[in-house]
Amino acid sequence: MKNIIVIGGGFAGLWSALGAARRLDAEQANDVRVTLINRDPWHVIRVRLYEADITDARVPLSEILEPAGVEMVVGDVTAIDFHARKVTLGDKSLPYDRLVIATGSRLNRPNLPGIEQHAFSIDTWNDANALENHLQNLKDRPASPSRDTVLIIGGGLTGVELACEMPDRLRNAGITDGRVILADRHDHIGSNMGPHAVPVIGNALSDLGVECRTCISITAIDPNGVLLDDGSRIEAATVVWSAGVSASPIAALVPVVHDALGRIPVDCNMRVTGLDGVFAAGDIAAAPLDADHSTVMSCQHARPMGRYSGYNVVGDLLGLDMLDMEIDYYVTCLDLGPWGALYTEGWDRRVSASGQSVKNTKMTTNRVRIYPPRSGDRREILDAASPFIQMAPSRQA
Ligand SMILES: Cc1cc2nc3c(=O)[nH]c(=O)nc-3n(C[C@H](O)[C@H](O)[C@H](O)COP(=O)(O)OP(=O)(O)OC[C@H]3O[C@@H](n4cnc5c(N)ncnc54)[C@H](O)[C@@H]3O)c2cc1C
Repeated sequence: MKNIIVIGGGFAGLWSALGAARRLDAEQANDVRVTLINRDPWHVIRVRLYEADITDARVPLSEILEPAGVEMVVGDVTAIDFHARKVTLGDKSLPYDRLVIATGSRLNRPNLPGIEQHAFSIDTWNDANALENHLQNLKDRPASPSRDTVLIIGGGLTGVELACEMPDRLRNAGITDGRVILADRHDHIGSNMGPHAVPVIGNALSDLGVECRTCISITAIDPNGVLLDDGSRIEAATVVWSAGVSASPIAALVPVVHDALGRIPVDCNMRVTGLDGVFAAGDIAAAPLDADHSTVMSCQHARPMGRYSGYNVVGDLLGLDMLDMEIDYYVTCLDLGPWGALYTEGWDRRVSASGQSVKNTKMTTNRVRIYPPRSGDRREILDAASPFIQMAPSRQA
């Protein structure tokens, strides 16, 4: 029996394991086992973690993997021996013939006093769940400006999506006079969305009553707020850190030259450059898209990277063909809460639609398009894992 191991059960890892299972099924190769290792038993729909109700934003991995014939191991991978071809988790190690690394990314938490103890985040399902539980308990505290204020630090895509939901989330938690502040050290909120999108984001935040604070630098976080570098304070019993992500620490185990986000360079087959038998996909990897662009840390790219890595890892193992991943579009669809959503096209992120007309597109993307089939039907699950590039979501779903 030969072994393909996939580490990570997110968008890249799940689709990689299923892509490999699909190709083995097509080739009738019964002497290869696919094993997916994930640190918990869940496939998390991470893009939904800014929402209030995330009950359905995680799917039991076994529900998808069992019908597809993929083995599942729950555990935290801590080491990889690329010479002996072994993956270590806890006190055991698993041998592999081919490996796909898909452990994603994680929020950057700088070395700031109080950040570990007092800052919330929406990086993982557990983090997002802890934030919602905290919001629901606020009304039991004595009223104060601090109790009623949510400060979100980081005005990137995640921070903006969370800030747009937050006025409603506070009201639903019984805080009627809530204040939501979105803060960033840059001079614009949403600056990584480019100049076309920034004014639209600004309008949405202002209509929703979210205050923006730019050019600020936080030096400490405590249970009642934050201290700024000019000595002033912002009182807020809810501080959410949402400022930047980098590749999962597993990337550092791979002996390659990483990019500025700590990612592993891969070729258009998802093979790690210079390491035989090792593939990587999703946020942990950077694959070339064209002469000027590599994949972006996104669900949009992680899912096809997963499918292609699954197809190709079997090709590599069985001496069959491999497919180059080619994606000829780039879009973003940003949720702006009750205001609507924003849809951009192209690498310069031209705004092609905004407001309520795009909201359905965002909802369909988050709640249907990116879910694996949940029927338990082996054929449907394997078919969904074929290496194809989905068309861009329609602007008006
Ligand atoms: C709130 C939020 C909103 C977002 N919105 C969008 C959006 O609108 N559009 C978009 O395209 N992208 C969005 N993203 C980004 C998107 O979620 C990621 O790009 C995507 O999840 C990457 O998929 P992945 O499989 O590479 O990593 P992940 O989804 O992070 O999955 C990694 C998996 O690996 C597991 N793992 C990690 N380390 C180990 C280990 N050592 N051992 C075992 N298992 C391990 C984890 O438990 C996890 O299951 C958003 C992200 C967040 C947080």
